[in-house]
Amino acid sequence: MENDELLDCLVIGGGAAGLTAAVYFGRYKRRAVVLDDGGSRLQRIPRTRNVPGFPDGIEGPDLLRRMREHAARYAVPAEQTRVRSLRRLDDGTFRAESAEGSWRARFVLLATGARDVEPEIDGIAEALKVGQVRYCPICDGFETQRQRVAVLGRAGHGLRESLFIANWDNQVTWLSMATQEEVGAPDLARLREAGVRIADSPPHRIDCGVDGVGVRVELQNGQVLEFDTLYPALGLVTACELATALGARARDNGQLEVDAHQQTTVDGLYVAGDVAVDLNQISVATGHAAIAATAIHNRL
Ligand SMILES: Cc1cc2nc3c(=O)[nH]c(=O)nc-3n(C[C@H](O)[C@H](O)[C@H](O)COP(=O)(O)OP(=O)(O)OC[C@H]3O[C@@H](n4cnc5c(N)ncnc54)[C@H](O)[C@@H]3O)c2cc1C
Repeated sequence: MENDELLDCLVIGGGAAGLTAAVYFGRYKRRAVVLDDGGSRLQRIPRTRNVPGFPDGIEGPDLLRRMREHAARYAVPAEQTRVRSLRRLDDGTFRAESAEGSWRARFVLLATGARDVEPEIDGIAEALKVGQVRYCPICDGFETQRQRVAVLGRAGHGLRESLFIANWDNQVTWLSMATQEEVGAPDLARLREAGVRIADSPPHRIDCGVDGVGVRVELQNGQVLEFDTLYPALGLVTACELATALGARARDNGQLEVDAHQQTTVDGLYVAGDVAVDLNQISVATGHAAIAATAIHNRL
């Protein structure tokens, strides 16, 4: 279905950033539409405890439902669809296409987020729900106090995350995937100082929630380790393709380069949330969206 109306802004992605932008556009009385394929990282949060205004925390799916309800209050249409291409037309407007239709807009706000690289663990979805697997120490490192914590990741990301998590009163073991030889003496000293142990051999198999054990890691040398929580530190894949296909500049990690108003290097194309930053936080995503939506409103 071809949508003839020229929108003020097309919002691609309906998670924390996209839905916040929808509220702003609705309240600015602008014509905006949100296109979303339903994969927000919010859905994977068992209970977030660092979103302002929720002192007892809130489950991610509940927060997402409330954010959708909030956007709907201002009658901003949201469609469930996956955008597969974004082009710039000769008249300077943008055209997005999905299997369900096409949309044209003067501005685009891309809020497509990022996806966690997951380790191969049976029942990982259930383990995530009960906090045996966690992805975001900034969000929930506080909850690891007095726990035995494993961090799975190579030198670089895995090492940084191990040091970060060791800040709480816990016992951290780095499952370095045979990369500790790449670590220089100063970093090894920092790990030692922080009390981080390094597993003797790479993990062979990881099980969660079996026989009452939180996380059971069998190493390649046969040794078995038990933990309360595992943090995979394998990185994120940023959903930046729609922007880079238009020529927007991205850093090596896929995050899009932006100016102070969240505009990419393509005029009229703005981004918000995890697709643009490595501080993957709800408050950052909503802040980006407020900045970008207001900048777009001021240019219309
Ligand atoms: C397990 C876990 C726990 C977390 N805990 C916390 C926490 O406690 N506190 C906190 O602040 N943050 C937490 N986060 C991070 C937080 O979820 C993200 O930072 C936040 O959701 C980012 O918002 P976003 O809008 O950028 O991306 P998302 O919320 O992921 O939304 C992006 C949306 O765009 C859609 N999309 C992508 N490509 C397309 C396309 N081509 N067409 C249509 N739609 C598309 C996606 O499917 C998705 O619905 C956690 C994340 C995880 C995984």
